[in-house]
Amino acid sequence: MSVLRLAIPSPLRRHFDYLAPIGVSNAELVGLQPGIRLRVPFGRREVTGYLLAVCEDSDIPLSSLKHAVEILDEAPLIDPQLLHLCRWAADYYHHPHGEVFGTLFPKRLREGKPQQPHGILVWQLTTLGKGLPETALPRSPRQAQAISLLMQKPVIENTEFRDNSISATVLRSLQDKKLVESHMMSERLQPIRVNEGLTLNSEQYAALNAVSGTKQGFSCHLLEGVTGSGKTEIYLRLIENCLQQGRQALILVPEIGLTPQTLARFQQRFEANIAVLHSGLSDANRYQAWEAARTGNAHIIVGTRSAVFTPLASPGLIIVDEEHDGSYKQQDGFRYSARDVAVKRAQIHSIPILLGSATPSLESIQNVVAGRYQHQQLTQRASSGGMPDIKVLDVRRQELHAGLSKGLLEAIQEKLQLGQQTLLFLNRRGYAPTLQCHDCGWIAECRACDARLTIHRRRGRLRCHHCGDSSMLPRQCPQCNSERLMAAGLGTEQTEDFLRTHFKQWPIYRVDSDSMQSKGSMQALAEDINKGEPCILLGTQMLTKGHHFPGVSLVAVIDADALLFSTDFRGEERMAQLLTQVAGRAGRADIPGSVLLQTHYPDHPALLAMLSTSYAEQARVLLKQRQESGMPPAGQLVVLRTDCPNAEYGEQFLQTLRERSTPFLPSGAKLIGPLPSPMQRRAGKYRCQLLLTAPTRGAAQTAASVLVANAEALPAKQGLKWSIDIDPQNVF
Ligand code: ADP
Ligand code: ZN
Ligand code: ZN
Repeated sequence: MSVLRLAIPSPLRRHFDYLAPIGVSNAELVGLQPGIRLRVPFGRREVTGYLLAVCEDSDIPLSSLKHAVEILDEAPLIDPQLLHLCRWAADYYHHPHGEVFGTLFPKRLREGKPQQPHGILVWQLTTLGKGLPETALPRSPRQAQAISLLMQKPVIENTEFRDNSISATVLRSLQDKKLVESHMMSERLQPIRVNEGLTLNSEQYAALNAVSGTKQGFSCHLLEGVTGSGKTEIYLRLIENCLQQGRQALILVPEIGLTPQTLARFQQRFEANIAVLHSGLSDANRYQAWEAARTGNAHIIVGTRSAVFTPLASPGLIIVDEEHDGSYKQQDGFRYSARDVAVKRAQIHSIPILLGSATPSLESIQNVVAGRYQHQQLTQRASSGGMPDIKVLDVRRQELHAGLSKGLLEAIQEKLQLGQQTLLFLNRRGYAPTLQCHDCGWIAECRACDARLTIHRRRGRLRCHHCGDSSMLPRQCPQCNSERLMAAGLGTEQTEDFLRTHFKQWPIYRVDSDSMQSKGSMQALAEDINKGEPCILLGTQMLTKGHHFPGVSLVAVIDADALLFSTDFRGEERMAQLLTQVAGRAGRADIPGSVLLQTHYPDHPALLAMLSTSYAEQARVLLKQRQESGMPPAGQLVVLRTDCPNAEYGEQFLQTLRERSTPFLPSGAKLIGPLPSPMQRRAGKYRCQLLLTAPTRGAAQTAASVLVANAEALPAKQGLKWSIDIDPQNVF
């Protein structure tokens, strides 16, 4: 008797075996393909499971296996390559397979609902059909003709077959042979039109030729191009080539970078179906975009992190824009890196992938050095304005107004009078990061975290930026009843207030996650600013990514010191990336740009490096340091974290885990800790971590398996939760 082996969305890292649904014969089971959905009993509920394999036997006595309730799909909704990718990702990140499938499927399908037919009937080849030799079906010329048409064009509307005198009966017999499948498509297939692009400059031309001239199959390219060098133009050309081959292009962008501006650029160039996938979509829209990609109805798929798992009917190209961006790494649950999964996906599909950035991650640079990735460089800006001029503004002993020195205020004034725009960067939202009592020294701290509360004066509230807790802004000190409460430190609200009184006649725009909450506010803002009138833009990191403000000629970092003293091993890399990206907003049109960095440490080596060397040079120095320290990408890193209401228990758990695992670690693998996380208490839980370093990926994987197996065998009492993070972004 055959057994169904399933992945079930559950925190358990194992598969689950079931018997056939009652009334389904063994012969029918054997024909089932991996990837189909089934409804099965699980605990006291019924859940959607995903078929991994049909097996001859089970580790569990057949008599104690339950019957599946229902087979939900006749054929898998995802192709074998995507299934392969999911299983690879679950193994590599040591995450339960069922939860990985949960990431892949839209809500409707996760809930076990049927596909939603709508629109126009279209046909395409099944995997079986795709593998058919040309000479198959000699006895039914009509069927052979239908297959041959589908080999030339992956998705064909029903009406087009009728025009070619291929009847519904012909298609149905092919469907019975499982060679073709039909589905409903939301929009009519449009002939794709490509509008005229810019004339490439010689660097762009060379980069494009190098990528498109690479031999067919998998290849990975790092496009390292300074801000404004015309990387997007290269993306557009590559997408054009891909569409001409009748294939789909998948473009990943950082969460914050999916601006209407980026999308508008794609829409202007291509009259094609573009599916957009990001976290702000409704379930229905997400499902529709997913189906459009899966069926080949969408030619171009643009999306954030999780879009890397979108099924594609005929993938031809993957692009990861701003590949260094931290938002590609999921920081909770299934902790995958969308960039790394994208590279694996391109490998599985045997297609090219392009990683683009002005400030590539050290990981990607290392892959170039090792010869795994090809390297294309754009060293010049595409538009006439050259690279901005960067200067340090020493603010020691200077009077500061809401963080702004006299020198900076004068520079802003000058730009405004020339009719130009200024962008001020301050990576701290709210009014001030600390509320303090002047009489007794009391400081407002979060009840649930080891953190201070931020003052949000506009809303009259104190907020924790770590757990989201919020309370009324007090008028009196809770400790001594004094009314002399002071705001200490600086946030965007405060600087905005000052700018409004100091530059009364000019418009001021504040851009942070508080002011940009409603949908479309960023778009409205970008439209306003790009009218080009003189103004001041003040914002957090939100301002620095992917936005084009051609009228900005001065960029200032209000508090460069806040970036200088990070304890994380990636701190310097992140600082160089952030400063380079912020600076890159200056002078993007024909006005030359200048950048001012306000600091109390004008001689800090990291700042001096910003002035005298390019990001590319700084990155090579940092890479050398990582090689000496054995940290990623030179060595491998894994973190096992606990999160527990009881501080001691979390540490004990990791200590026991360490003792049990140490004898089984591969050579070169080392454990460090347990150590409390730098911010130990968060949202009422105490966090502790065990670090694993290893010289190679293989050793890190073996060691991670040892840790996971031992952690699963340990009792997790007292509400303890543990998680493993492969290739972590931060070690806290
Ligand atoms: P990146 O993505 O590298 O930051 P973009 O592709 O956004 O750069 O290009 C920056 C600016 O330069 C845009 O305004 C774009 O229209 C312009 N640009 C790009 N390529 C060319 C070119 N070959 N000729 C003229 N202008 C160009
Ligand atoms: Zn007090
Ligand atoms: Zn908190």
